[in-house]
Amino acid sequence: MKRILVFKDPSKLQKWCRGRRLAGARLALVPTMGALHDGHMSLIRAAKRRGADEIVVSVFVNPVQFGPGEDYEKYPRDEKADLAKCAAEGATAVFFPTPANMYLDRHSVYVNEEDLSKGLCGARRPGHFRGVCTVVAKLFNLAHPTFAVFGQKDYQQAQVIKRMVRDLNFDLKVVVAPIVREEGGLARSSRNSYLSAEERARALAISKGLKAMGPGSSLSSLRRGLEKAGLRVDYVECVDAETLEPRRKVEKGCCVLVAAFCGKTRLIDNRLI
Ligand code: AMP
Repeated sequence: MKRILVFKDPSKLQKWCRGRRLAGARLALVPTMGALHDGHMSLIRAAKRRGADEIVVSVFVNPVQFGPGEDYEKYPRDEKADLAKCAAEGATAVFFPTPANMYLDRHSVYVNEEDLSKGLCGARRPGHFRGVCTVVAKLFNLAHPTFAVFGQKDYQQAQVIKRMVRDLNFDLKVVVAPIVREEGGLARSSRNSYLSAEERARALAISKGLKAMGPGSSLSSLRRGLEKAGLRVDYVECVDAETLEPRRKVEKGCCVLVAAFCGKTRLIDNRLI
């Protein structure tokens, strides 16, 4: 097995990517916040399936996308384990930048997506997608990938990134990979490590409720199911899968999205109808 490359310095990553690109390699970028799990691994596998010659996984807990009082400090971090997982899955390189080398002194340029970011998580987490778009734009400029892989788990994020790529003419393709779930159905997430055994059991109401949704289903019954499990609903919404505009009826072409607190942990999940 080839040794996996580790980059910490953005300019070194950029230089290496440029070399590979000029040599004709198809580069895939998989942006993550680390504490990697099988959901992230599935993105690496998707990159392989699409014929990537080089797969760069970035691991960066991006301070700019966290709001005050959110879990930036306590977000799980485990570089050694992340590196081992990426190597085992066949990624070529891992990029572990620091906040200080991603955001230089007096950093003052941000990317704002102003349509798809308005509702859902964007409404509850002001500044979140500004942080996401900014860091992803930076990663795109560093790696210049042929394509970048995101998960459907963060449905709104994937749509926002696609719009950013379209509207700012990034020369790459966005690939969206399906949601990977634990055995009971819970969508895999680095934040699942916050859950106690009892909370984990209650959190199953989210995936169970979503699984039961189809054309004609009612959102209020979904909400009630979550509340009955003792979850605090942040939102339960049905939107047009493309425009993210609210839809009254659950029908084909919609996406039903949930954000709910299980104890102190905020979980998200969704289902395309
Ligand atoms: P994160 O590290 O949570 O920021 O996620 C990094 C990328 O992995 C994002 O594109 C996520 O949508 C994706 N991802 C996270 N969890 C899952 C999952 N359970 N299934 C598929 N993709 C996921």
